Amino acid sequence: MTSLGDLKYRDTQKAEELADTIDEQMDSIDRDIEVMHVCGSHEQVIAKFGLRELLPSSLSVTMGPGCPVCVTNMPEVDEAVALAESGKLVATYGDMFRVPGSSKSLADAKANGASVEVVYSASDAVTLAEENPDQDVIFFATGFETTAASTAAVLQSNPPDNFYVLSAHKYVPPAMEVVAEMPSTDVDAFLAAGHAATITGYELFGSVAKRHDIPVVVGGFEPIDVLYGVQEILELVECDQVAVKNAYPRCVSKEGNKAAMQAIEQVFERTSGEWRGIANIPDANFTIRDEYHQHSARQQFETESVSDNTDMLTDQCICGDIMAGISSPDDCDLFGEECTPDNPVGACMVSDEGACKIKLEYGGLPEL
Ligand code: SF4
Ligand code: SF4
Repeated sequence: MTSLGDLKYRDTQKAEELADTIDEQMDSIDRDIEVMHVCGSHEQVIAKFGLRELLPSSLSVTMGPGCPVCVTNMPEVDEAVALAESGKLVATYGDMFRVPGSSKSLADAKANGASVEVVYSASDAVTLAEENPDQDVIFFATGFETTAASTAAVLQSNPPDNFYVLSAHKYVPPAMEVVAEMPSTDVDAFLAAGHAATITGYELFGSVAKRHDIPVVVGGFEPIDVLYGVQEILELVECDQVAVKNAYPRCVSKEGNKAAMQAIEQVFERTSGEWRGIANIPDANFTIRDEYHQHSARQQFETESVSDNTDMLTDQCICGDIMAGISSPDDCDLFGEECTPDNPVGACMVSDEGACKIKLEYGGLPEL
């Protein structure tokens, strides 16, 4: 068996060796297997390096609900747009800037004169608040555990009074469980996101694995990491073992970053909420606790006056099915025609981690 210590992460020969092992494993398993990964960065590396071409046809690797931009719900974008249009300065990550709400994106609001700034981190948004003491600055905070941890740290660091957070942060494990249970999906194993697991640790996937009778392997983001993760998954499948394995030990530990997890728990409570196009998922949204109400945009400002229509722009958009592993971007009638990165109809065409943008950018050609 290949040991991770031996691997150079973009070594073609190692990749071929791993692909051969995977072939042999699939021969011995002797049935079709679907692995779902839960991270846009996994999709990027799979598409960019043509890894699917290296895998046997009986093994499919699909994208799950793994792009934080794509799963941000339309009414959440609407809230941010409404706040910008009411005269607040809204700061957000670059990808969120262009994601359509029910009638417009933050980029559209900015073009119409609203104050919207792109920031690279939660602390950049705090700096904006410090530099603009006479203006309310709202950080439209999106992303999973990794970015939720930095938002939590900022809220605990005594930010200025004019700094507020509109939280659209989401917690991934409950979404994995919902997708695993969907009658239309047929997931045999999860390749979990290494970045998020650096915060959460890998131990917590134990309950997902047990409850759904499905192995989970945490994987890294270089081509060899992904192939190694798949090989580890197949090893579990071969032995009929429902367990969690860590195929990214250089970054991920069993318990994760305890201080970061503690900050998340202190600042956020978990509530149910809509994941764009997928489902209303219990306990999967990070909502700011009452203790931090003075910095919560939802508790301090009117944000409800927005549409709860989640379909207006997306009647034909099948992002939800793509993120549930049911469809692929090619199945969408708008793909690459009406919907392009310059003119995105759905969120999956906006983000660098979105399945449709990745598919359009890289196709499926091997480049290793
Ligand atoms: S935030 Fe990190 S873990 Fe989550 S989808 Fe993006 S790269 Fe993957
Ligand atoms: S191609 Fe565009 S409209 Fe179609 S699913 Fe992807 S993002 Fe949605």
